[in-house]
Amino acid sequence: MFEDLIKVIKEKQKFVITTHINPDGDGLGSEIAFFHLLKNLGKEVSLINQDPPLVTYSFLDKKGNFCVYNRELHHQIFKSADVLLAIDLSSPDRLGAVEEELKNKHIYSVCFDHHPPDKKFADIHVVNENASSIGEMIYDLAKEMGLNVTKDIALGIYVSILTDTGSFKYTNTNSKTHVIAAELLKFGIEPYSIYKNIYENNSYQKILLMGKMLNTLQLDESNKLAWAVVTQKALQETEFDYNSEDKEGFIDILRSLNGIEVVLLFSEKEKDFIKVSLRSKGNIDVNQIAMKFGGGGHPFAAGVTLNNTKLEPTVQKILLETSNSIKAFTDSRKE
Ligand code: AMP
Ligand code: MN
Ligand code: MN
Repeated sequence: MFEDLIKVIKEKQKFVITTHINPDGDGLGSEIAFFHLLKNLGKEVSLINQDPPLVTYSFLDKKGNFCVYNRELHHQIFKSADVLLAIDLSSPDRLGAVEEELKNKHIYSVCFDHHPPDKKFADIHVVNENASSIGEMIYDLAKEMGLNVTKDIALGIYVSILTDTGSFKYTNTNSKTHVIAAELLKFGIEPYSIYKNIYENNSYQKILLMGKMLNTLQLDESNKLAWAVVTQKALQETEFDYNSEDKEGFIDILRSLNGIEVVLLFSEKEKDFIKVSLRSKGNIDVNQIAMKFGGGGHPFAAGVTLNNTKLEPTVQKILLETSNSIKAFTDSRKE
C-alpha cells in the first residue's frame, strides 16, 4: 500500500508536514514521528499547522519544531517544498488556512490518513481505514522501508496510538495495536511518563469545567442517547482556556454511562461557534450523522464544527437526527 509514497520519499528532498485544525494527539504525535523518520533519511522537513499544539502535547516537541501557519512567514517554504504531506484528514477544508497552500499546484501532495475516504484532494492518497491511528500506519511504513525506529519516532507513534485508541480501549484496538506498542517500548519510551503528561495533567480550571459540564448531562427517554454542553458562561466562570488542554476526557466521562448507544458533547467554544463531538458505542455510525451537518470523522468517533449558530437550536437539530438513527437501529433489531 505504501509503494507510491516510498517512491516519493526516496526521490524528493524537501517536505512540509501538516495536520488538521485543532490538532489532536494522533496528528501531533504522527507529525513528530514523520519528522524524525524523514530527517533521519537526510530530508529537509518543516511541521506547519494552522493551530498551535495544545499545551498538553508540549512534551512531544521540546525543540519547538511545530510552526503555526502564517502566510507571510511560510508561503515561501511551501512554494519551494517538493512534497506536502497532509496527515489525519480526509477533506482539505480540515486544513484551515493551510488549505490555500495545498491548492498551490507547484507542490506535490500526499494524503496519509485512516478516515473513511471523503474527497480526493491530493496527488496520492495513502489510506488505511483499518488502522487505529496514523501512528500505526507510520510504524508499518517504517517496517516496509526497513528504517530504524529511534526513541523520538517511537514516542510520536506511541502518543498517536495511545490517544486515538483512548488508551487501548476503543473498538479500533486489536492485537496488532498492542504488538506495536510492545515493540515501541523497546526504544526506551516510558508509558507512565507519557500517560502522566497526557492524562494526569489537568488544570484546576479544567476539572471545575468538567463539573459544570456534568451538571448539564441529559438522557433521552430511551436511555440510549446522552448529551451535555459546555457553555460560554461555564468557560468564563471557570476561566478555562479552551485552547490549552486536550478535552477528550470530557466525552470519555459521558461515554462511560451504561446502556447508551451515542453520546454528544456540544461545546460553545466562542459565541455562536459550536463544536460537537459524537461518540458511538459500536452500533450507530455517527460519521453519517456528522456528515449531514458538514462534519465527519470515523464511524464511532466524529465531529462537527458550526459557525454563526446558536447553541439551543443546534442541540435540538443534532439530537433529533441522532434519535432517528438510534430508532432506526432499534427497529431493525426488532424485525
Ligand atoms: P473530535 O470530537 O473533535 O475529537 O473528533 C472526532 C473525530 O472526528 C476525529 O477523527 C476528527 O478528525 C473528526 N472530526 C472532528 N471534527 C470534524 C469536522 N468538523 N469535520 C470533519 N471531521 C471532524
Ligand atoms: Mn485527528
Ligand atoms: Mn486519527
